[in-house]
Parts: sequence; C-alpha cells; structure tokens
Amino acid sequence: MRFLILFLTAAIGLIPAPVKYTPEKDRTSFKKAVAQLEPWQQQEAYRLTIRGKRVKIEALTPEGRFRAQKSLEQLQMLGELPQGTIFDYPRFRHRGLMIDESRSFKGLAFLKKQVDAMALLKLNVLHLHLDDSAGWRIESEAYPDLTGKTAFRIGRTYHEWEAGRYRFTTADDPTGYGGYYTREELKELVAYAAQRYITVIPEIEMPGHSMEVGYAYPQVLCEHPNGRLHTGAWDLCPGSEATYRLLEAVLEEVMDIFPSPFIHIGGDEATMKTWSQCVHCARRMEEEGYTDVKELQGYLVRRIERFVAAHGRRIIGWDEILETGVPEQAVVQSWRGIAGGIQASAAGHEVIMSPNSHCYYNYYQDLIRKEPKAVGELVSLRFTYGYEPLAPGMDPALLRGVQANLWTELIPTPEHAEYMLYPRLFALAETAWTPAAQKEYKGFRKRARALLDLFRSLGYNTFDMDTESDLARSGLQRFPPEGTPIPLDE
Ligand SMILES: [Zn+2]
Repeated sequence: MRFLILFLTAAIGLIPAPVKYTPEKDRTSFKKAVAQLEPWQQQEAYRLTIRGKRVKIEALTPEGRFRAQKSLEQLQMLGELPQGTIFDYPRFRHRGLMIDESRSFKGLAFLKKQVDAMALLKLNVLHLHLDDSAGWRIESEAYPDLTGKTAFRIGRTYHEWEAGRYRFTTADDPTGYGGYYTREELKELVAYAAQRYITVIPEIEMPGHSMEVGYAYPQVLCEHPNGRLHTGAWDLCPGSEATYRLLEAVLEEVMDIFPSPFIHIGGDEATMKTWSQCVHCARRMEEEGYTDVKELQGYLVRRIERFVAAHGRRIIGWDEILETGVPEQAVVQSWRGIAGGIQASAAGHEVIMSPNSHCYYNYYQDLIRKEPKAVGELVSLRFTYGYEPLAPGMDPALLRGVQANLWTELIPTPEHAEYMLYPRLFALAETAWTPAAQKEYKGFRKRARALLDLFRSLGYNTFDMDTESDLARSGLQRFPPEGTPIPLDE
C-alpha cells in the first residue's frame, strides 16, 4: 500500500511533492484528517479535489487555501490536471531562502520575482541579509550616513571592491556601484510577501561583517589606548555605548518596517582583533569581570537579545552565538555544517538548518570548468536534494526548518543569482515540505526538469540540467576533505 501511494504521488508533477495523492475521490472528512496534525501544519493543510474540470478546495484557513491554489496553479502551468484528490500539509514551519543584498544589490523587482517563485514552491520565509562590510542597504532615519556613505562603493563586484582597498563613494558618483532600499520599498516588499504567506526576516549583522558601519560612524570603532581609532576594523566595538545606541536605533526602525516575529542579528565570524586593544572594551571587561575578549561577543548578543525581546520579538543568530552564551529563546541557525544545529538543540534552542555543506547555493552546482566562478564545494542538485535536516539526536520539536542561503560575493547580477537558485531551490522546497520517507531523487529529477522549463518560460534564468556532468548527476561529491580541490573532470 505504501508503495502504491509513493508511486501515485510521484505521478503528479508538483514540486514540492504532496503528502498524498489518490486518483479517487477521498470521502473521508477533511477536518478529521487534519485533526492529528500540529496546529501550524493545520494552518497550511489543504485538500484539493479535481473531478473533470471541477475543482474543490478544502482548508481551515486562507493560508491553507492559498497553498492549494498554488498547487493548482503549478499543475495548470505544467499542463496537467490530474483527476483525484491531493491531501497536503508541510513538514517544517520554516521553509526559507536567504538572499545577500549587501555584496551585490539586486533591487525590489528582483526580490518580488523571487517571492513569486517561493510562493509557487510553498516556501514561507525570505531572509534578507541587508548589511555587511560591502554596503549598507536599508535606509535609516536616525543614522542616515549608513546609506549616505556606504550604499555605494568603488568596484562593481565584491572582489573588485576588495582589490581596490574597500573604497566607498556616494550616490552621485557615476563610477560608483550600489543602492539601498527605502523604508517604503521594504514595506511594499513585506506586504507583497505577506499576501503570499511569506514572512520577510531582516538581518542586521553584528558585531562582525560591519566594516561599513565604522566607516559611516567612527564612534562604533574600537579605540586604541593611544587615542587612535581602529579605522577599517571588521568588528564593531562591543565596549562602547555608541555601538548600542546605533544598533538599537536601527533595530527599532527595522522592527517598524518588518512585522516578523523574528529578527536576525547575524553574530557570525567576528574576528575580535581590535577588542584586546581598546579602552572601551577593556573597561567593559573589567565591569563585567571578563577575562577573555570572546566574552564581549556574548555580552553584545545577550544585550541585543534583551532589547529585541523587550519589543516582543525573538532573535535568530548564526551558530557562533552558541559559543558565548545566549538565552534559550534565541533561535540558532546552523551554517558551519550541522554541528551547531545539534549542539543548539541539545541546549534547548529552536534550530534552523542551513549547513554550508548542503544549503549554500553560492557553492558550485557542477564542475568548476563549466560553471561561473563560485565557492569551494560541490552542491549539486542531487546532493542538496539528499539533505535530511533532522540530524541524529536532534529533538524534532526544536527543528523549525531548513533554509537555502545565497551569498553574493561572486554573484554580481540578478540573472546570475537566479542561475544559482534554480533548480536547487526546488530541492530545498521539497526537503522543507514533503515527508522525508516520500523523497525519491529519480522522480524528483523528472519533475524538476519540467518545472525548470516552466521557470524559463516565466522569465527566470536557470541552470541547464541537460548539461549536468556525470559527477554532479551522481551526487557522489559529498564531503571532500577540507582543502581538496574539486576535480576538473571525472
Ligand atoms: Zn572596543
């Protein structure tokens, strides 16, 4: 019986594959069928019955109805209208995509277009990485120089900017590259996404990846005992009150724009280099009784967490936030492989899994010699499809979901970004929605091939599955030991 259901499910072209499809009319009660689900699953559950040209949708909420409509829309666009009944609900409540708008700025039309794709794929979280050393992308009234001085840079690509020694310029410089989102644009995006049951989670990065903040407002820089500021530093000064004034003012503006219950505060890759040579940091350490500068990271994260919690929101941070103590209500996003997720779950945190090994879509999707320059490891369609977010020993109740991340150091254009996302985002969508036991690569690949054609016809620039190498197809390039170059052919 199980085999039969799997077979029939695979016979429908939908991505993500639905929980259940039967060619017959389902005569059981929909309300009874969803009663056993978690409340957040009930929200999105639906039953779609197709008899001839007649379509019936059953759902408990408008959101469930919307998911059903998206299934119907995808099937219609694929030229299919299978007779029978689809009963469907999500596996995870967080089904996300992160887009890095700092290293390359792609603009509102691009983001709306990806929101449309996400809706079709039943993804429900767009995580926006809005600031990083290479440019601040969100307008601030309290600190206007953030965009005024760092939204434009010298260097079309991130690496050109790096090679040119990190120079910024202003909007009126015709040789400058960049841009930023106004409050109105972001509110428009939030509303556009909300109509599609997608939450936009903003990320304000701290204390690392923040070179541009110190450029715009030097008072957030560490200060050497000889009075000299650590100009050009990667990290904010966690000792100075000026840092908290800026971060809190910005976060208040951010929370005003984004109603999301979660605010991402970054927390990754602080170098902490200047913290041991700073009068403000030294004073803070003495006051708090710290012996290691690392503890200042924990101080900053906990203080910002309290601020965000006082506004009725919860923080998400990259897995580094675990290392220096953070309250249990903080959600941890595992990116350095899966270890952070396992550790976070053991400590009672809710977890979002986006391990770089499987979910970084800025990584190569095929052989180096046939692909645009990308980052390190091979994350082929098959390999990313095989990812199982629930790691052994992890508490399933704490696993909020799974997310793909698109960092854009090497992805300077919207077309290139789409090329990296599709079809791999199809795999992520199925991992996030479809029960693990129902996933099966061969059938998925067929459906992905057809959906990719549809995406092209809708104007998305995609990877070409027909040119996929045998190595990528095999999905075998799993965990190359660190430092191993990817073979050029095989
Ligand atoms: Zn400092």
